[in-house]
Amino acid sequence: MKNVLFVASECTPFIKTGGLADVIGSLPQALKQNEKIDARVILPLYDEIDEAWKNQMEYHMSFDVQVGWRSQEASIYTLKYNRIMYYFIANTYYFTRKGIYGYYDDGERFVFFSQAVIEALAHLDFKPEILHAHDWQAGMAVALANIKQPIENMKTIFTIHNIKYQGIMPLETFDDFFQFSREHIGGMEWNGMLNCLKSGLFHADKITTVSPTYAEEIKDPYYSEGLHPILEEKSNDLIGILNGIDMKEYNPLTDPQVPIRYRSSRARKKENKVLLQEKLGLPKDGDIPMFTIITRLVEQKGLHLVQHILDEFMEAEVQFVVLGTGDPEFEAYFADAAHRYPDKLVTLLTFDEGLARQLYASADFFVMPSKFEPCGLAQLISLQYKTVPIVRETGGLKDTVQSYNEFTSEGNGFSFQSYNAHDLLSVLHLALATYHHPENWAKLMKNVNKSQFSWKESAGEYAKLYGQIKAEALV
Ligand code: ADP
Repeated sequence: MKNVLFVASECTPFIKTGGLADVIGSLPQALKQNEKIDARVILPLYDEIDEAWKNQMEYHMSFDVQVGWRSQEASIYTLKYNRIMYYFIANTYYFTRKGIYGYYDDGERFVFFSQAVIEALAHLDFKPEILHAHDWQAGMAVALANIKQPIENMKTIFTIHNIKYQGIMPLETFDDFFQFSREHIGGMEWNGMLNCLKSGLFHADKITTVSPTYAEEIKDPYYSEGLHPILEEKSNDLIGILNGIDMKEYNPLTDPQVPIRYRSSRARKKENKVLLQEKLGLPKDGDIPMFTIITRLVEQKGLHLVQHILDEFMEAEVQFVVLGTGDPEFEAYFADAAHRYPDKLVTLLTFDEGLARQLYASADFFVMPSKFEPCGLAQLISLQYKTVPIVRETGGLKDTVQSYNEFTSEGNGFSFQSYNAHDLLSVLHLALATYHHPENWAKLMKNVNKSQFSWKESAGEYAKLYGQIKAEALV
């Protein structure tokens, strides 16, 4: 097993809105390095991608894609970066817009992308044995690969990074997008709508998701966003493989965005905290415990719980920094909170990778009380920067953070189970008490320093799955 093509809508360092980009930006490298797999990546060429990257790309060729009765041009550009080959699909109508999501025709934009990917296969000097598609934006690529069989014996894997986003459109759009027989509508339809994610699930040879716990949770109606029947049906082909992070990329000893670099030194971390306090206009004191949230400001991230108890928690001697963009409701709430606690709470309504890294390096605690969390990378990054995660026990958070137990000295963070604001408040207070208890704090930090979630093991699991899928095809 050698050739795998990743299909996805975002990828670091080119374009990122969330954890998906981190995974697509780092897993192919790990597959190449550890498993000798030639994993390549195909992405849309958004306007938003920096000119500096575009200038390095090479034009390969153009072809027409038939989106129903409309003919749209797709051009392929290539770029080799860090030993990985990236293919970009350009189209002036669908991808020359500000930002990357949030348009009324997002469904159509990514149906076009999926169609272009399948047709591009005929024009690449690369024949994937496995097409590995990620999230709803690439779901139709799996369906089309199965229906059209563009490469003999090519198998498919579909990875769910978040089941909440499904790419749903009116069923009538089927005739608008595709030129093949309506017999295929069944595999693409869910609850009377055309559904990109369901199409990927239905057609994939194997389904993976990004943590073992989430793989179980999504078979349950509470987490499945309505898709549990199909996941139950395909449960033999569904497995959870925990995400890793790129250890070189997220390393406080070498990260150029960290002003005072460190391996695990608390003193140096405090120096970063004081620099950040100065930058943000907070009182300068390295001993004040600093809590941070770095996230998309959406309900999934448990922000309603934070809202519920924030005032009570802010009575303690703490500082809080929130970095994120998202729903206007949460943006307004945290902007207002910053006005109410001018000396204690700062809200930064922006997406800023550099600032995020400076925050990971400066804060003592990372708060992530998600309602659901497929894997979560932010808590893994915070562990890398020796910042203690405080999480709800769901999905990948449950698989990576273990609550500190002062009797056994085990645990690398703090956690609570029920989606309940007062449970969050009590672990925040427990975290604070531990911060002020030097002996317990030292034990907790020892565990934090040992927590590492590299790609090594998970890349091995993907390689095993690729091998298994090919072997099953021969039976
Ligand atoms: P999700 O994929 O649901 O957004 P993850 O925890 O898997 O959540 O990944 C989030 C990634 O996006 C992390 O790398 C985090 O640091 C980053 N991130 C989120 N919000 C911001 C922001 N406002 N500025 C910079 N980075 C952010």
